[in-house]
Amino acid sequence: MFTEIRNPYIFLNIFFLFTVNLLDSRTVMGDLGWIAYPKNGWEEIGEVDENYAPIHTYQVCKVMEQNQNNWLLTSWISNEGASRIFIELKFTLRDCNSLPGGLGTCKETFNMYYFESDDEDGRNIRENQYIKIDTIAADESFTELDLGDRVMKLNTEVRDVGPLTKKGFYLAFQDVGACIALVSVRVYYKKCPSVVRNLARFPDTITGADSSQLLEVSGVCVNHSVTDEAPKMHCSAEGEWLVPIGKCLCKAGYEEKNNTCQAPSPVSSVKKGKITKNSISLSWQEPDRPNGIILEYEIKYFEKDQETSYTIIKSKETMITADGLKPGSAYVFQIRARTAAGYGGFSRRFEFETSPVSVAASSDQSQIPIIVVSVTVGVILLAVVIGFLLSGSCCDHGCGWASSLRAVAYPSLTWRCGYSKAKQDPEEEKMHFHNGHIKLPGVRTYIDPHTYEDPNQAVHEFAKEIEASCITIERVIGAGEFGEVCSGRLKLQGKREFPVAIKTLKVGYTEKQRRDFLGEASIMGQFDHPNIIHLEGVVTKSKPVMIVTEYMENGSLDTFLKKNDGQFTVIQLVGMLRGIASGMKYLSDMGYVHRDLAARNILINSNLVCKVSDFGLSRVLEDDPEAAYTTRGGKIPIRWTAPEAIAFRKFTSASDVWSYGIVMWEVMSYGERPYWEMTNQDVIKAVEEGYRLPSPMDCPAALYQLMLDCWQKDRNSRPKFDEIVSMLDKLIRNPSSLKTLVNASSRVSNLLVEHSPVGSGAYKSVGEWLEAIKMGRYTEIFMENGYSSMDAVAQVTLEDLRRLGVTLVGHQKKIMNSLQEMKVQLVNGMVPL
Ligand code: AMP
Repeated sequence: MFTEIRNPYIFLNIFFLFTVNLLDSRTVMGDLGWIAYPKNGWEEIGEVDENYAPIHTYQVCKVMEQNQNNWLLTSWISNEGASRIFIELKFTLRDCNSLPGGLGTCKETFNMYYFESDDEDGRNIRENQYIKIDTIAADESFTELDLGDRVMKLNTEVRDVGPLTKKGFYLAFQDVGACIALVSVRVYYKKCPSVVRNLARFPDTITGADSSQLLEVSGVCVNHSVTDEAPKMHCSAEGEWLVPIGKCLCKAGYEEKNNTCQAPSPVSSVKKGKITKNSISLSWQEPDRPNGIILEYEIKYFEKDQETSYTIIKSKETMITADGLKPGSAYVFQIRARTAAGYGGFSRRFEFETSPVSVAASSDQSQIPIIVVSVTVGVILLAVVIGFLLSGSCCDHGCGWASSLRAVAYPSLTWRCGYSKAKQDPEEEKMHFHNGHIKLPGVRTYIDPHTYEDPNQAVHEFAKEIEASCITIERVIGAGEFGEVCSGRLKLQGKREFPVAIKTLKVGYTEKQRRDFLGEASIMGQFDHPNIIHLEGVVTKSKPVMIVTEYMENGSLDTFLKKNDGQFTVIQLVGMLRGIASGMKYLSDMGYVHRDLAARNILINSNLVCKVSDFGLSRVLEDDPEAAYTTRGGKIPIRWTAPEAIAFRKFTSASDVWSYGIVMWEVMSYGERPYWEMTNQDVIKAVEEGYRLPSPMDCPAALYQLMLDCWQKDRNSRPKFDEIVSMLDKLIRNPSSLKTLVNASSRVSNLLVEHSPVGSGAYKSVGEWLEAIKMGRYTEIFMENGYSSMDAVAQVTLEDLRRLGVTLVGHQKKIMNSLQEMKVQLVNGMVPL
């Protein structure tokens, strides 16, 4: 019925908690309308605060009298549709020891009750119809001495009640002989506030009735975006959004900006200029709402009623001359502007007519020099723009990359080109033709950059060139294989500056090193998934050579978990695993085998979203899905690698699944090293002999089973990534399925006997044991408090741990579980203590 409120989500700094007050006695200006009976029990103290607002404090102090039963009833409180509500009480309580005369009858607790009803009629009910919420005790009581010092120790206690089934309820406080002042009562419910994530809007959502319930909420794509994978999030009982799944994408022509997809408004005012028998000159004004810097205009025109055959001209100016037109014919013009956010909508149609043949001849001779100048300027302008397009170097998002694509896809396209409607389809324009590989829309496969004769070509096919001046380097955050990794900011033209990570290639590199370094960008640039690290672009035209990616605030997952040992809820950990599995599903669908999947190669951002990174080692599958690419002599991360990949270099998505199982183990054990300090040779031998890692402590049985499935010797028996994603989704939707943990004795049966920290024989010292379970920080405290031998340690209780100052629940569990396990093994005769 009730639970105490702890907040296990303190690390989710981005999700702010959202509570809605149903009652706050401190903010009620007039009478609260509460009833006390008997009349001489609870009494309201008529005090006002510094703003003369009433403080509704109720007190009772009948500590010298026997058989007290004093009730205080609130007025009816609507629950506003919430099915779990929270009650925060602030009160002071007198220490009975400080009342010598009252010791026999004095109490130090009071009781809180509730009664549900659909309306206010339920007030006159009997005491025994109230349902008890809890007995409330004070953490701190006050004494005569405190009174003298005027120090009143205010206690705050929170309880929750649910599921509620009626429209509202009453609360009641029962005193049975304590000396209490109830200073304030706040009643509230929690909701997950409306947010936009991954371009999907999630509505205000009242949390579920069950304190462990996660509500699955569907998001709605923001304007100008479409569903990529159905966006969903989970609203926790604490009012936090967890485990975002899926995303929306901006429609073609729109680009994401501040969680919206915005493009320039249409050009509204178009004026005709000079008209001859073969040409029409036009000018126009910038759109009313450019929504960014206008990079160019696209002018589409066609002969009236001949819409299927039209011409497109692009111009950086707000005027053009369309020539080569038929005399005496009507032409329809439409113009649209492009910013970094893409194209806006076309203007309405403007219709103009060329001069008839006879009239054209009589056109004003005085205009000839102007025409000559205009044409010359036009030609020069055209040449400049072509040069600009082909050079492809600017901070602009679209120019370098998109233009080279355009040139590859339509080698015959000139700057000003007439082409059929079908060809102009923006989707088709995005089609990639690379080195003879034709990539059809919807059938995206990974292209190995090694298939390019010139690796520089590969990098420019898949990565945008960024000008070094657009990047501000701020600080070094890590060391990569080829040089430092820095954090910094990227400012692209027409876009807001945003944080990025910058990998640099150290000076004095060889050509091969440069190729390998940029190879990662050529691979990364082909991926577009919320759980794959996103490439912003590369700097290759100046030194140092750089790879710029999105910035992941929490760095690599293994270090992050080690730093925050025991701090996350199981659902948060499963959310991380779900993200990794989803990224891996995407990679395997693309035919890409990672080969180095490990927690150290996963990056995690401030939203706890995990993304697969590190594409340095990776290779591609051959066309035959059964044929795995084999390497000669590359380094293999033994602890993470499937036996068949180690033995005969059979790297497949199934071997990635094995590695994924190891990542699951790393995550659930907060960054523990797989197989601890065993040597690589011992690991290979043990795995070959059928040993597997034991379940991490406190691991839900369903997750450990999934790990074991990933570690099936027969690679065809391992689950596929899409199955893993579905399985994790199911667990997230039904968190109670995560409550069954692997128990200590079954963990022992899976133990890698020689090398588990708990199974490695007797610990020589308390320090060694604590170090082995990564609790070394408590060694001194244990020793100082007399727990200097393993025998003494075996007697430690949870209470003792709290007394020793081990306050983190995760750490308490780790120590207690390890002790429990040692006891089980002792019983089994496995580990002599
Ligand atoms: P790597 O060369 O990819 O292994 O990167 C070396 C280290 O730099 C990683 O372990 C991270 O700590 C850090 N790092 C790399 N990329 C990023 C990023 N995108 N955001 C934040 N930190 C990163």
